[in-house]
Amino acid sequence: MPHRIHNFSAGPAVLPLPVLERAQQELLALPNIGMSVMEISHRSKTFEDVIGRAEADMRALGKIPEDYKVLFLQGGASLQFSMAPMNLRSPGAVADYIITGDWSKKALKEAKKAGATSIVASTEDGGFKRIPEPAELRFTPGAAYVHMTSNNTIAGTEWKDVPETTGAPLVCDASSNIFSRPIDVSKFGLIYAGAQKNLGPSGVTVVIIREDLLARSTDALPSMLNYRLLAENKSLYNTPPTFGIYILGLVLQWLRENGGLEGMAVVNDRKAGALYAELDRTPFWRPHADADCRSAMNVTFRLPTEDLEKLFVKDSTAAGFDGLKGHRSVGGLRASIYNAFPEAGVTALVQFMREFERTHG
Ligand code: PMP
Repeated sequence: MPHRIHNFSAGPAVLPLPVLERAQQELLALPNIGMSVMEISHRSKTFEDVIGRAEADMRALGKIPEDYKVLFLQGGASLQFSMAPMNLRSPGAVADYIITGDWSKKALKEAKKAGATSIVASTEDGGFKRIPEPAELRFTPGAAYVHMTSNNTIAGTEWKDVPETTGAPLVCDASSNIFSRPIDVSKFGLIYAGAQKNLGPSGVTVVIIREDLLARSTDALPSMLNYRLLAENKSLYNTPPTFGIYILGLVLQWLRENGGLEGMAVVNDRKAGALYAELDRTPFWRPHADADCRSAMNVTFRLPTEDLEKLFVKDSTAAGFDGLKGHRSVGGLRASIYNAFPEAGVTALVQFMREFERTHG
């Protein structure tokens, strides 16, 4: 067994070890098939089973209502920044955006290219340390939809409650916290996520869309960007990312075997709780996010000086930790602890932090 280090990458991120082991076992030939999943037709019965099981597990885990479609697409979450407005906003209509981080800004930038947008609220002043209060949200009457980012990967903040819109469907970029805890899908019109943090490898994008919204997709759209067409073809309009969907299916099985989303929530809260407790223990650590907006997935913090931050990255790397350098727009450190990140890795990081603070604090 090769040595695996503590991988705190923000994405692509650590995958469950049993998933990697199973994929390794089956890489040369799927049981009784004699070919690997990468070598079979996406229209074969075998692949139909793979994608069918992935969808069924996704539905069971997320308690996804019957009137929602589950799509497995390509182009990353970033393509959804364009597809959502192209499909859901009719000419002349306004799309509302809640700006809570750099990824929300990128989503807005794409939506602006093809039509009218409005900013419902922004927490950019002060460095995206918080999620807006309900009273701050200024919705546009009759908006085509309201876009939000449920977890802000870079700033390390997370919505604790789903905002109530004034009737417009909520479109949610859930790339960095999808399936990290139970989710009430019925509160959303559309949820999308790149798989590479909580669900699998990069190259697969999950879209969960309420069926009535599919009627908004017009035939003028490029076929590959048309939710209705992609849904009608059950994500098989063209060749889908077959290997990625297979791995995603294994991750979903692993989630089911490990307590489902309720089970994930308990472990994720414990992991994040241990890190934030250490960050709150002494003023040496400077957590970035406001306490009531902290993300359970991306823990962001700074140290008293940039030199100490550099030293922390260097020493932690030498000690077998990877991926702790913060995003350049926040600076400092970031520990990404998605579903598959083992609790033992958090314990090891807390111990390392104690020692670092004792030596340099
Ligand atoms: N949204 C969020 C919240 C993200 O964290 C990321 C990637 N880190 C993206 C969108 C972009 O995803 P992709 O690289 O799959 O396009």
